[in-house]
Amino acid sequence: MQVTAIIAAGGTGTRLGAGVPKQFLELAGRTILERSVDAFARHPRVTDLVVVLPPGSHLAASRAFGGGDRVTLVAGGARRQDSVANAFDAVPPGSDLVLIHDAARPFVSEAVISRVIDAAAESGAAIAALAVSDTVKQAVGEDDRTFVTGTIPRDMIFLAQTPQGFRRDVLAAAVTLGRQGVEATDEAALAEAAGHRVRIVEGDPDNVKITTAADLERSRLRVAPVAATRVGTGYDLHRLVEGRPLIIGGVEIAADRGALGHSDADVACHAVTDAVLGAACLGDIGRHFPDTDPQWKGASSVRLLEAAIDTVRAAGFQVTNVDVAIVLERPKIAPHLQRIRDGLAAALRVPVERVSVKGKTNEGVDAVGRGEAIAAHAVALLTLTSEG
Ligand code: MG
Repeated sequence: MQVTAIIAAGGTGTRLGAGVPKQFLELAGRTILERSVDAFARHPRVTDLVVVLPPGSHLAASRAFGGGDRVTLVAGGARRQDSVANAFDAVPPGSDLVLIHDAARPFVSEAVISRVIDAAAESGAAIAALAVSDTVKQAVGEDDRTFVTGTIPRDMIFLAQTPQGFRRDVLAAAVTLGRQGVEATDEAALAEAAGHRVRIVEGDPDNVKITTAADLERSRLRVAPVAATRVGTGYDLHRLVEGRPLIIGGVEIAADRGALGHSDADVACHAVTDAVLGAACLGDIGRHFPDTDPQWKGASSVRLLEAAIDTVRAAGFQVTNVDVAIVLERPKIAPHLQRIRDGLAAALRVPVERVSVKGKTNEGVDAVGRGEAIAAHAVALLTLTSEG
């Protein structure tokens, strides 16, 4: 049996934004139209496809579809039924069964397509539809209010989806009625008007029609790659002594005391390095940069942080943001915070907007409060962008 799928993508509405018809909007890198076309191109029983594009759009400029030379492109008409009529003219002569699918339903499953093919082949016409679980009210509007006029048994109500499938002669009769001026919002209605019985098969709640901005947002979330996030903390403290420079986040700050240590004793870089390595579960600064290793002797702590970033990036992580609190009694570091942020952001290789640095004092309490030490706390959030 030869089965042709018509993908109706002739709509020109740009209400969902970006100035392009909604079927050309992307969900995780592929357009809604491409996803709809692919669902049928991949289906083992669909032999060829006819894709209806908006009139006036450059057919040649349309993206290549997975179906390759099995796909014919045609221009749409003013109404949906005109578009389907144009597409019907392009259906190959040998086709026994024609499916019509709305391009705005990119999540149609192979099972739903199969059910429609089977039922249409057997009964002449079939649509996917959803049973209703809510109580259904009939109502009338009066001024700006709405009043119930009756309750409709819900087992009589089905919500039509696509695909809708027709034996070729049934669709030919429906298209002819449409050309004679009968108006309908779907092909099943035209087939009914032409005197054919249309069978209902079970649709799929996931086979949504993307109509509103909220539909689009939900659809984007549905196909978004799962971004695993990891959080890590870091802490560091160094004694403050006379005769040493005070370096914080790679920035030298004028002070009468500096931090004591084997390296430049940069508490901000050390705490952030530990937070970043910790988020990736890749150990700590002492393991990666032992002070016994000549490679790191005298190295700027900014270099250690850069090397830690290379390590976590090699493991598939990107830094989402970092927040640092520096605890120092004096001097005031507020005038230097922006330079410290800039330095850390450069080492982290992220925009400065993703790095926060705060200065605190310890209110005169304990060693930090007495000016005998400087401490830093850091939190880093990483996103796992690729599973090793
Ligand atoms: Mg340290």
